[in-house]
Amino acid sequence: MADVLPSRDPYDDGDTGSAGRHPTAEVGRSPEAALERLTELVREARSVVALTGAGISVPSGIPDFRSPGTGMWESVDPMEVAHIDAFRSDPVRFWRFYGERFATLRDKQPNDAHRALVEMERRGLLDGVITQNVDMLHRRAGTRELVEVHGSIATCSCPDCGEQATLERARALMAADAEGVPRCGGCGGPLKPDVVLFGEYLNASEIERARRLCEGAQVLLCIGSSLEVHPVAGLPLVTREAGGAIAILTQGRTPLDDLAEVRLDGDVEHELRALADALAGSTPAPR
Ligand SMILES: [Zn+2]
Repeated sequence: MADVLPSRDPYDDGDTGSAGRHPTAEVGRSPEAALERLTELVREARSVVALTGAGISVPSGIPDFRSPGTGMWESVDPMEVAHIDAFRSDPVRFWRFYGERFATLRDKQPNDAHRALVEMERRGLLDGVITQNVDMLHRRAGTRELVEVHGSIATCSCPDCGEQATLERARALMAADAEGVPRCGGCGGPLKPDVVLFGEYLNASEIERARRLCEGAQVLLCIGSSLEVHPVAGLPLVTREAGGAIAILTQGRTPLDDLAEVRLDGDVEHELRALADALAGSTPAPR
């Protein structure tokens, strides 16, 4: 299977491909049949890994900022305001925006899709979760092997001296500061949330952990991700090149749809619950 990479640029949205070009592309399979096929793939795989994006948190009430007209992202351009340059040049404005984001995310709870993945992991049917989300919902649900490639809002750090503060501490510091900026207890500089802002590089060791998980995966479940943000978008290709299969559970098209062994685009909570239930009683394939 290592040689079935697409001949065209996989990120080119223009051409949906023609019959016969992508040997594993499914044609006209019903959601029930797709779920059945997915269950079979997961049951037989020695290693299953999940890669999640904003779509898995939408049922928890966290809007995907890529969807137009949703909540706080409506009036601002996140590329501009959540950019590392914005943090450096105007921390007051940055924190006015990010403080609101903290407040929005603080009380959100994991949903059944997060919980279904935890159940699969506990039964030995899932080796890890790689997430693009910074909302801590996989942690809160109880996922153990978790790679947060874009960081998380759990902590803030001082870019100058490295001092770290928890989310709660950062919120207390913000409330106590006249300008609403959480300031470092050591040097007084503005703290930065430990998330990868626009214009920043991903943490190299985290992306390497993610790459290794994807390389070892016989099945990669791509859940709620448009698979458009690099370098995360390239991870499914790592699985494919190593001979594994990709399953895409995401609403709307992705550039890798034609490479997916299974494609589901319904309610992500319903789909993952159905998968976990169908796997109940399954023991992991020998490793
Ligand atoms: Zn400092």
